[in-house]
Amino acid sequence: MKIQNSYEQSDYGKLYLVPTPIGNLDDMTFRAVNVLKEVDLIAAEDTRHTKKLLSHFSIHNELISYHEHNRFERIPILLEKLRQGKHIALVSDAGMPAISDPGFELVREAIANDVSVIVLPGANAAVSALVGSGLATESFYFHGFLPRKNRDKLDVLERLKHLQATIIFYESPHRVLDTLQALKQQFGDRNAALARELTKIYEQYIRGTIDEIAQYVKQHPLRGECVIVVEGYSGEAAPADDEWWEELTLEEHVLYYEKEENLSHKEAMKRAAKDRNMSKRDVYQALHVKKTE
Ligand code: SAM
Repeated sequence: MKIQNSYEQSDYGKLYLVPTPIGNLDDMTFRAVNVLKEVDLIAAEDTRHTKKLLSHFSIHNELISYHEHNRFERIPILLEKLRQGKHIALVSDAGMPAISDPGFELVREAIANDVSVIVLPGANAAVSALVGSGLATESFYFHGFLPRKNRDKLDVLERLKHLQATIIFYESPHRVLDTLQALKQQFGDRNAALARELTKIYEQYIRGTIDEIAQYVKQHPLRGECVIVVEGYSGEAAPADDEWWEELTLEEHVLYYEKEENLSHKEAMKRAAKDRNMSKRDVYQALHVKKTE
């Protein structure tokens, strides 16, 4: 067990987690500006990006990069500085560090080394989208990004489909339609909201059922960053029973495995046969008879 009295005097420096705006610079807090001015060092996901933010707020401070690819080399260096009494702020490109951004491992190691971790409240896309979605907020589950591969995405959603809490996903605009389709397939046509470009001039909420939102997105391809918020399982609307491949032809089904899972044609036919409860021979014949016609 460890107890942190955040503002107690210590020989060690403190690690500050400082949220930055997710679009609107006015969302930078006074406290965030002050902390970034006062610390000895700012660890930033992308130093060039953060330099622009700092210059906007006339903050002249030393930066060190801390990102996905160098975090394990950086942690001992930052911990050493903290042990020497230096105060360090961690920022990501936008929003709350450590939320779908680098930060968690540094926080964990700081705590393990008895360094106080001070979190400043501030901008975060997930909580803003949740609150604006109009969906229940008394209990919610933040998932962040789903896997990119459709099969993996469906597997994750399968595990989440009976969760009785509002669920929040981060998604890129290029994959939002695929994700909505996967959601409908696994969850059924629940109420949902898509929040886009939060805090920016083109901020938009698309509220409706998953299918209504998908239809809208089909007709109005989206730009900008998105959050998908989905109603939790109510126990009433049963998730769709349809199999994910039901709308595919046999050829498309086999091709899916070849392309998405890099399987050989033979292995792909085997998987499709298993899904469809067909014999491998029937699959082979169906494809080959067609091809020779
Ligand atoms: N740490 C950030 C936070 O606290 O929200 C999240 C960083 S994560 C790498 C980026 C994702 O957050 C985007 O792909 C999008 O899903 C969501 N996001 C960030 N800014 C957003 C905005 N202005 N509007 C909608 N979604 C946003």
